[in-house]
Amino acid sequence: MSEVLSLSPPPAVRRIATRLEEAGYETWAVGGAVRDQVLGRPAGDWDLATRARPEEIRRVFRRTVPLGIEHGTVGVLDGGKLYEVTTFRRDVETFGRHAVVEFADDIEEDLARRDFTFNALAWHPLSGRLLDPFGGRGDLADRRLRTVGEPAERFAEDYLRVLRALRFAGQFHLDIEPATWEALRAATPQLVRLSAERVREELVKVLTQLRSASRALDLYRAAGVLDHLFPELAAVAAEGGGGELWATTLRAVDAVPPSRPTLRLAALLHAVGMPPSRTRDLRGGWRYTGHEVVGSRTAGDVMARLKSSNAEREWVTRLVRHQNDLFPPDAPDAGIRRWLRHVGDDLVPDLFRLRFALWRAGRSSGERPGDLLARWAAARRVLRASPPLAIADLAIGGHELKRLGIEQGPRFREILEDLLERVVEDPSLNRPHVLEEIVRREWLHE
Ligand code: ATP
Ligand code: MG
Repeated sequence: MSEVLSLSPPPAVRRIATRLEEAGYETWAVGGAVRDQVLGRPAGDWDLATRARPEEIRRVFRRTVPLGIEHGTVGVLDGGKLYEVTTFRRDVETFGRHAVVEFADDIEEDLARRDFTFNALAWHPLSGRLLDPFGGRGDLADRRLRTVGEPAERFAEDYLRVLRALRFAGQFHLDIEPATWEALRAATPQLVRLSAERVREELVKVLTQLRSASRALDLYRAAGVLDHLFPELAAVAAEGGGGELWATTLRAVDAVPPSRPTLRLAALLHAVGMPPSRTRDLRGGWRYTGHEVVGSRTAGDVMARLKSSNAEREWVTRLVRHQNDLFPPDAPDAGIRRWLRHVGDDLVPDLFRLRFALWRAGRSSGERPGDLLARWAAARRVLRASPPLAIADLAIGGHELKRLGIEQGPRFREILEDLLERVVEDPSLNRPHVLEEIVRREWLHE
């Protein structure tokens, strides 16, 4: 079953397909790009599938990169861009983490091993024919997500497909067909067998590829993914019974643009300290005193489990820790400098972005947006003057203290901390002779 369809791939796709076909190897465009174009959306990377074996692909093109020869993938350079060209494959052995594949002779077999009907489309760049053996196009038209073949089997072959299904459903507004949904929910306890890297990559795709990540993330909740992979977030979703904290969390994630995935992660994790620190206040309501500290630690645990980089983990834990630390709107500049020293001036732009997202999500109801903007402007004004905020910014250091006859030791640091406190109050003091004068007077009692 096939029909002719006009898609618009970059010229390189047609060039590469032509070269392979002229050498006698049937070649198709496959995967996400075909799906996106059939949906009428701009396509991401165009991938090609061919009957040619990797060594044959490398013989046809002058400039190739071995991307994964054992999986049959060769990168072909055209117009400064790399295109993935992969030999037709079939699954031979599967065990829930990664399918083991071998080369196949026809495109139908290759399509049959793909996960969802709309991902099992192939388009011929020369003839314009669309192959759609599993009715993927109709599913897209009806906004339906279905696995290729028996859902429970397909999820058991590779449990990552559970997360992929929820991402695609969120991204393309699809309803998951009942049998697929049932098998998917039943498969969620097995997700713990996936490697941290694959889970993290999927989450990053949700955060970077979906303007509204909330739909996919709420499907994570509904399917039971949170219970097994992110129990800390399952507790957020269960907090208060009405799902209000979870709804706010999702709105906060969506209020951060997808171009800032680390900040989105901070928004997603900002409330994880709340369920464990809940206590009754005197009037019988709830309060969450100190949740930022607990939450910061918990967010760090989640990210360690995902094997996030140390830098990203530290950034997110600092944002969660300081989410509610803002100087009062009428703070004097010295107060703003003390605050900058406390949270770390490098964090400031993201901390304000997080505050804006939380405000837009309805998190800080008492706050007026004008106040937040005014504080942002004040913090920027103070920062522009590059005030001394760390010991390294002081106009004198250990060298000068030694010259004043002070022995190196714990006292050194004490003195420098004292000087820093003074120059944070009044940056005009940060000159060598003024600071030396202070040391003489206050510490050497000269
Ligand atoms: P995106 O690039 O946005 O993640 P995509 O559909 O292009 O979406 P890729 O991971 O690039 O996803 O994979 C390309 C194609 O390979 C998919 O369209 C699908 O046909 C197939 N595929 C990818 N991962 C799997 C999997 N775990 N199981 C089965 N088929 C898969
Ligand atoms: Mg892709």
